[in-house]
Amino acid sequence: MRVLVSVDMEGVAGVVDPQDISPGNAEYERNRGYMTDEASAAVRGVLAHDPAAEVVVCDAHAQFRNLIPDRLEQGCTLLRGSPRRLAMMTGIERGVDAVCFVGYHGRAGTPDSVLAHTISGGVIANVRCDGRELGELGLNAALASFHGAVPVLATGDDTLAAEAASVVPGITTVMVKRAVANRAAEGLHPRESCRRIEAAAQAALAHPEVVHAPVFQGPVDLEVDVLRPSMTERALGIPGVERRAPLTLGFTAADFGAAYDLIEVFTVLAAAP
Ligand SMILES: [Zn+2]
Repeated sequence: MRVLVSVDMEGVAGVVDPQDISPGNAEYERNRGYMTDEASAAVRGVLAHDPAAEVVVCDAHAQFRNLIPDRLEQGCTLLRGSPRRLAMMTGIERGVDAVCFVGYHGRAGTPDSVLAHTISGGVIANVRCDGRELGELGLNAALASFHGAVPVLATGDDTLAAEAASVVPGITTVMVKRAVANRAAEGLHPRESCRRIEAAAQAALAHPEVVHAPVFQGPVDLEVDVLRPSMTERALGIPGVERRAPLTLGFTAADFGAAYDLIEVFTVLAAAP
């Protein structure tokens, strides 16, 4: 089997603050090690389920260059670097059976959720597909199912676990910390979080049939809310894109894959100075 492990950083045990996840800080250097360890735990869980599994670990935070290659569990490949198409999910297009989300976080606007945001905190306030609000977990789970893969595992704080259970009923979740506020949490020891992630990945892969990921068939109505009116201007140059409200870009995408691509493009254009 082929498994994609998409690894973000905000939902890693111990991480609570923007400095914890931003290159150039001492805390970041330590936390990228923890991030790598949680990714390794997922890899071990996958290989315990299927020793012959082909595992691709996809670095999915910031510029996608956080995981430490020689600290990562052997028996997988590491996909890193940007820019790249499909961003947090690159590799999904090559035919994947299952996806594990490690170190994920709550969607923009979630109260008392560690470092909650969607795609880019200073740019995107909300993303809706066919009227349904989705954060990174939901969007990436829907992309997985669009490509025929089952999202089986999500790890992060308790708010991420609750979001995952609601957007992807049946998905296995691991709560590595309890959010106390946007920048505060009570967490497990890093080794304990890894122990749980490894066990959960192995168990989750045994029962993909219980997972019900969001499925979007046919054209998708996409709406993206940005934080300032000026952030809509450049995207309006794309044929078919309309401004439906002062802060809302709208587009009817041919399918979910096209909608996913366009969200990324909207974000880049909105963030440009
Ligand atoms: Zn991130």
